[in-house]
Amino acid sequence: MDDSELESKFELGADFAARRDDADPLAHLADRFYDTDDAQYMDGNSLGLLSTDAEDALDAAVSEWRDLGIRGWTDADPPWFHYGEKLGDRLAPLVGANENEVVVGNSTTVNIHTLVGTFYDRAEGSKIVVNELDFPTDHYAIRAQLRQHGADPDEALTVVESRDGRTIEEDDVLDAIDDDTAIVFMPSVLYRSGQLFDIERLTDAAHDHDALAGFDLAHSVGVVPHDLSDIGVDFAVWCGYKYLNAGPGAIAGLYVNERHFGETPALAGWWGHDKETQFELNPTYTPADDAGAYQIGTVPVLSAAPLAGSLDVFAETTVEAVREKSLNLTEYLMFLVDERLPECEVGTPRDPDRRGGHVAVEHPEAYRVSEALKERGVVVDFRPPDVVRVCPSPLYVGYRDVREVVEKLSGILENEEYEAFETRGSGVV
Ligand SMILES: *Cc1c(COP(=O)(O)O)cnc(C)c1O
Repeated sequence: MDDSELESKFELGADFAARRDDADPLAHLADRFYDTDDAQYMDGNSLGLLSTDAEDALDAAVSEWRDLGIRGWTDADPPWFHYGEKLGDRLAPLVGANENEVVVGNSTTVNIHTLVGTFYDRAEGSKIVVNELDFPTDHYAIRAQLRQHGADPDEALTVVESRDGRTIEEDDVLDAIDDDTAIVFMPSVLYRSGQLFDIERLTDAAHDHDALAGFDLAHSVGVVPHDLSDIGVDFAVWCGYKYLNAGPGAIAGLYVNERHFGETPALAGWWGHDKETQFELNPTYTPADDAGAYQIGTVPVLSAAPLAGSLDVFAETTVEAVREKSLNLTEYLMFLVDERLPECEVGTPRDPDRRGGHVAVEHPEAYRVSEALKERGVVVDFRPPDVVRVCPSPLYVGYRDVREVVEKLSGILENEEYEAFETRGSGVV
C-alpha cells in the first residue's frame, strides 16, 4: 500500500463498505426500524422510517384510549394532560435546552406563526431577516404574520440573496441586520443544499442589534447537536417526522428561551394556559410560565405517541454519535460521487461544520434521474431545478446502502436510463 492509499479515508470497493458497516457502533439500531418495500431509503430527512419503538408507543396509546377512555387524561402513563410537556422534557437534550424551554405541539408552520407573531410584537425593530433559499412555508407564515401586524411584507421582509443559488453567505446575513431588525429567522440547515449555519454567530449578530434570533431546525434536529440555551437563541421550531422518525404529520417541537417566559402567545389557546388553573376554565387567559404556553389546542396524543417511542431509540445513543456517523456517511457519499459520477456536482458544502445530514447531488436531468432511481428501488427527493437530495439517515442507513445508491446512479447515467422517463410537467410533486 503506498502513502496516498494509506492516507485516503475511503475506498471504492464493496469490501470497504462492508468493513465500515461491521465497525459501525450504531449499526444495531437499524434493526429497530422497518424496511420499506424499497431497496434503499434515502429520504429520512423528508419522512423518517417507522421503528418498532414508535409503533409500540402508538399501540400503547391506542390501548390506553380503549381501556381508559377519558380517564387517560389523568391515568395514562404519562397522563395525556401533561403529554406535550413530558415529550418536551425528553426532546430538550437533542436541542441543548432546559426541559421547561421545550414543548411539542401543533405543526412547524403553525409554530412559526405563533412564535414569529409573538416576538414581532416584542422586538424593537420592524423588519424580519430571512433568506431566499428558505423552505417556502416559512416565508408564507412570516408574511402572513407581518400582514396581521399591519406591516407590508414586501417592505418588512429583508430577504438575503444567495450568491450561487445553493448557499447563503453568513456575512451577507450579518450585513442585512441593522437597528431596525426585529427578528432574524433562519434555518439551521438549508433544505436543498444542506448548508449548515453557525447558529451562535447569527444569534450574536442579531443580539448586537437588539434583534431576536429564531431558527427552523427542521433539517437538523435529531442529526446535528444543538446548544440553544447556552447560545441564548430566542426561539426555535422543528418537525417530528424527519430525522426524529415520529411519523407522517407527527406533532412538531418548539423552544422558547426562559427569559421570554410569561409572554402571551400570538395564537393563544387553552392548552397553553397555566396548567394549575386550566380546568378552572376562566374566560381570561393566563399563559403557562414556560414554553408550554405555545401549545394551542388539545395535545394530539395519537400523533405524539410515536415520538415517545422514537425517543427511546435515541436514548440508546447520543446525538453526538449520530452526528459522527452522519458526517462519515455524507463524506463517503461525496467521495463516491466525486469518483464515480463525473457528470454530477456536489452542491453541499464540504466543510463538516457547514453541512447537515443530507447531500445535494446536482445533475441537469435531476428529475428524470430521480425517477430512474425510484425504478431501481432507491427513494430520494427531487428538488427543483437540478437537485437529487440523498439523505443517509444514520439510525438506519449504512455504508453499503450509500455505495449501492451511487452504483445505481452510475448505471443510470452511463446508460442514460433516465431518457425512458417523462420530463417533469408542472404541478408534479
Ligand atoms: C419540512 C419543513 C417544514 C414543514 O412544515 P410543516 O408545518 O410540518 O408542514 C417547515 N420548514 C422547513 C424548513 C422544513 O424543512
